Parts: sequence; C-alpha cells; structure tokens
Amino acid sequence: MNLGAIWTTVLEQWAAFTADTTALLTYSLVAAFALGLIVAERIVPYRRQGFFREQLGSDFLFYTVLQNLGLAYLFALVNDWLKAESFLANVNVLADAPVWAVVVGSLVVHDFYIYWFHRWQHYNRYLWRLHEAHHSTVDMDWLSGSRSHALEIWINQFIEFGVLVLLGAPSAAIIIKGGISALWGMWIHTNLDVRTGKLQYVINGPEMHRWHHADYDEEAYNVNFATKFAFWDWMFGSAYLPREKRLKHFGIESEVRYPKHWASQLFYLFRPFGKDKGAPAPEDKTP
Ligand SMILES: [Zn+2]
Ligand SMILES: [Zn+2]
Repeated sequence: MNLGAIWTTVLEQWAAFTADTTALLTYSLVAAFALGLIVAERIVPYRRQGFFREQLGSDFLFYTVLQNLGLAYLFALVNDWLKAESFLANVNVLADAPVWAVVVGSLVVHDFYIYWFHRWQHYNRYLWRLHEAHHSTVDMDWLSGSRSHALEIWINQFIEFGVLVLLGAPSAAIIIKGGISALWGMWIHTNLDVRTGKLQYVINGPEMHRWHHADYDEEAYNVNFATKFAFWDWMFGSAYLPREKRLKHFGIESEVRYPKHWASQLFYLFRPFGKDKGAPAPEDKTP
C-alpha cells in the first residue's frame, strides 16, 4: 500500500466516523458542554484565574488534540484491524446487547476498576510516575483533566474502550461512553464554585475532585480517588469533603519541580528515583 492509498483510507474512515449520527450528536454535546463551562467559569469561579492560565496551550494542543484525540483515533484503527484480521473477529459477546445496557454496565464496572487502579497509582512509585503528569497542573479548569502522560492514556484507553471493541460492543455504545467520559472529565476538573449538596455522595464533581489535586495541604493527600461515581470514596473510606475550607494550591510542586513543556513531561517519566526536589511552600494568597 503506498502513502496515497493509506491517506485515502484514513480520510474515508474519518468521513464514515463523523457521518455517524451518534458520533455527531455526542461530539456536539461535548463541545457545547465545554463552551458552557468556559463561560460559567468566568461567572462563578472557585478561584480567580485568567482563561489563559499557565500551560493552557500545551494542554489543548498536545494533550487534548494530539494525545487524547490522536491516540483515540489511532487506537480505533488498530482495534478495527484486530477485529477484522484476527481471531477476535469471532468474539462478539456484546454484539447483540442493547446500547443502553452496554453504556450503563461499562460505566459502573469501569468506574469501580479505575477507582482501585487510581488508588494504587497513588501508593506505588512506578504507577505514580505514570500519573504525576495529571497532577502537575497548578490551575484547575475545564481542560485540566486532559493532561495525562501518553503511556497512562494508552493504558486507560485500552481498558476503557479497547476491551469493549474487542468484545464486539456496538460502536454507538462506545461512542456514547467516550462522550460521557469526556463530559465527566471536564466536569470534575472545572473551576466552578458549585454546591451540589447530597449529590456529592453519588456523582463525583469539582467539589471533591479538586481536593484530590491539592498541594501543600497534607490532610488532603491521597483522598477522593473516584472518577465518575463519588460513592466509591464514601464506601471505601477515602472521601474528603471539608465544606468550609478553601483550597489554595494545586499540583505536586511540594514534591518535584515538574517540567513545564509537554515534550519534557513526556520523557521526565524515565528519570532516576530519589533525586526529586520540590519548591518551597508559596505564600498563601486568598483565592
Ligand atoms: Zn490521582
Ligand atoms: Zn484529576
């Protein structure tokens, strides 16, 4: 196959993918939700910070477009190829399942798994290396959730979506699940001063997840591991929700001076252990 033919195949696949009504509706909803959050963060912010906060461009171009979307697309091509060309073509246990059942079932099962995997990442020094890029952001907003090391994204995308593809799940279910994950990722990281009351025991949101990103506040270390459903944290004793306290610093600067550029962040994973040095505690500013 020459380069021209490969390019034509990629374009055809892309056209078929975006022409799909479910995909178009899902992506439109995700884009509208992002716009809504961007506007709402200007009106009721938790912390005062500019829209163009530090590393916004890198989070958008490198992490969101290149890594999350680019890897997801490559991943879809590899999965399609595996499904067509390997023994997996005959594995279709989810092919006849209703779309809603696959979406709901995979949401709950995957969320339970990712709660424990995420918790393990915080206690195992090798797995923490995969995860620290996500914690390196010092300003939380609608886009902060996109920052994760490429290797972590690759592992997580395989577990969350690759398994569904390989089990023959309907593509509409996979697209909807992807849309829900994108919405929830934006929601839990948003810089909105919302109060959701008792919903915080069920639906994970910014009120709890921002504490998961706290720095220079040891009370808040290693808490709130949940992604979509907050009840895992309440069930397994890792919930932290101080109602009156305000969070001041996000990140991992107390532990390590993390590089600012995406490419450096990509390779920083492979540094030797034991030589990290953090920055001194910053002067507290009223948020
Ligand atoms: Zn974490
Ligand atoms: Zn996060």
